[in-house]
Order: sequence, then structure tokens, then C-alpha cells
Amino acid sequence: MGTIPRNRTSSELYEEDNLGFGKIFTEHMLTMSYSTSAGGWSEPEIKPVEHLVLHPATMVLHYGQQVFEGLKAFAGRDEDDILLFRPDMNISRFNKSCARLCIPPVDPALFMDRMSELIRKDRDWIPRSPGTSLYVRPTVIATDPFLGVRPSNDYLFYIILSPVGAYYPEGFAPVKILVTDKYVRACPGGIGEAKTGANYAASLFAAEEAHCEGFTQVLWLNAVDRVSVEEVGTMNIFFRIEDEVITPSLGGTVLPGVTRDSVIKLAADMGYKVTERTISMEEVVAAVRKGTLLEMFGSGTAAVVSPVSHFRYQGVDYMVGNGETGEVAGKLFDEITGMQTGARPDPHGWIVNIGAQ
Ligand SMILES: *Cc1c(COP(=O)(O)O)cnc(C)c1O
Repeated sequence: MGTIPRNRTSSELYEEDNLGFGKIFTEHMLTMSYSTSAGGWSEPEIKPVEHLVLHPATMVLHYGQQVFEGLKAFAGRDEDDILLFRPDMNISRFNKSCARLCIPPVDPALFMDRMSELIRKDRDWIPRSPGTSLYVRPTVIATDPFLGVRPSNDYLFYIILSPVGAYYPEGFAPVKILVTDKYVRACPGGIGEAKTGANYAASLFAAEEAHCEGFTQVLWLNAVDRVSVEEVGTMNIFFRIEDEVITPSLGGTVLPGVTRDSVIKLAADMGYKVTERTISMEEVVAAVRKGTLLEMFGSGTAAVVSPVSHFRYQGVDYMVGNGETGEVAGKLFDEITGMQTGARPDPHGWIVNIGAQ
């Protein structure tokens, strides 16, 4: 580990064991612009990464009309493999988020084709050490220079790439989370199920408070009842109570995670009973007291599976299981990362190899 692979060309050479998350970027980006007056999207263009030049009135900077996605490309076992994990789900979620934010959709086949081309162009930037990957960030922003409130007429779609290591500096070590009944992330009828920057803006204050108190993330509760669980920070959440693996139902306020969907299917494959249903903090606390809350973990592309060892709720601290990474979380992490890197079989046909050209 620690050295530069193959023929990486950029001056921004990096050490693979010190990548962090989202700090460095590859040489190329893809851009495509939408113009209502021109009647649609331009041809996508792949070019060296450059700064965006935006008028200070640009709508996204004022009213947040924006959508993004996040997926990873992995080096496979063969030199030429470039493996993506369920990219069709990211692309369809992108268009669903766009619909909610009044942004025109991008043709899914074109999206997949040109995104793959971009990744192949910067393929030498895909890190190869265990736990590393090339993070892919498709984004669309409203570009009209206009201060009135309405959907923009013009948009910029772009994709940038960032070699990443583990999302949490702690690695796969379990995290402590703060359950908040004071702040909410999303409410019914809102934009909670769309992957848009505004949801993150809304979450920062609570996350900062949690960090100050020594917690890694916030566990969000339902905005209306303030007891049923929704999701954790930037991840979906799972509980294992005895042999039932439970995750909150989607229902509009929870982000429909690709990892969440994969965990549901893989845990079922492993023989666990998996349930999507309402789960309240009362049930979670009761399970801790009875000793039946064996595991709690978050799921998301960045961290894959992130075990929770402790949580604080209404001023009381609780330990999950024995405070260590549980069996299901460990197995899922190994299974998903194994598939993603081509080391394990892919029975669901989730892996797309875009390496050959
Ligand atoms: C992206 C995201 C997730 C996880 O989705 P994945 O597709 O699994 O990466 C969960 N919650 C929120 C709020 C998100 O933005």
C-alpha cells in the first residue's frame, strides 16, 4: 500500500492509505447543459476539471434547486475491470429526485454511457488498495441568473470523480449516535426522499451539536410523532432484535438507499427475517433492556455498513449488543464489499463491468 499505481498521470499524486473522503479529484469531468429555449440537453462533454463560472444571482446559490447522486467504481480482479454496483438504481433515483425538484430528467442510457466513458478516461485514478474506490458524484444545478422564486429554465449537469478511502476515519469500528427528538430531517410531503443538498443543509445544526457531545451521527425520528425511527445522518438504519432485521419503511421521508435495498435482499439470502416497518424508540429501548437488541447499523454507499455501538436518547446512554460489531453487520460488509470488488459471486446480477472498451 501507499504507492502510486500504474500510470497515474496527474501532478496530484496521492497515497492510497491516506485518501480520506472527497478531498481530491481526478483530471476530467463531464458536463451537459439544459436550456429551455434550446429545447433540451446539450451533448455531454468530457473535459479537464475546471471551475464553474456562475453569476452571483445563479438560482441554485439562493434557493437550492439541486440534486446529486453518489456511487462507487471499483478496480476488479482483472487489470481491466471497472466494477459499478447497481448504477441503474442511482440513475433512476437521480431522475426521481429531479422530478421532485422540478429539474428535467436525464436520459438513463445516455447517463450510464457517458458516466462510464468518463470513468474509463480517468481509470488510472481508481485506487486499488483494500477499502478504496473511485467515488462518482453526478450533480445537477439550476443556473438561471434570476432572483425570483420559480424553477430555473436552465441547468448544468456534471459528474466529478474522487478517489476515496474509508468514509469514517474510525474505519469499520462501531460509532456512537445521538437520537434527536428536538430537530427533524424531513417531514411528510417534504423532500426527504429526494437526494438534494437542502436535506443536508437542514441536518448540519443537529449534527454539529451531536459532534460537540462526542457522537458521530444523528439518528432522526419521524417529524410528526417524534418517536419512530427514520434514518441516521447520511445513512439508512437497521436494527436486529433477536433474529428479526428491521428497517423503517420508506414512506416519503426516508431516502431510498441502494445499500438499504441491497442489505434487505442479502440479509434475507442469509436466512434472517427482514422486515420493513415502523419501529419506535420505545421498542428499541425496551429491546436494549431485555437484551434482545443485538445489533444496530447504518447503510450507505460511502460507509457501506456502519455498526452502532452506543446511542443516547433523552439523556440516557444505551449500549447495543455487547458494544462491538455484530454478526449481521460484519457479514453484510464482507458480502457487499466482496461483490463490489469482484472477489465474491454476484447472484443478483448487481455488478456492471464497464472496464472493457
Ligand atoms: C445517499 C443517502 C443514503 C444512502 O443511500 P445509498 O444509495 O445507500 O448510498 C441514506 N440517507 C441519505 C439522507 C442519503 O442522502
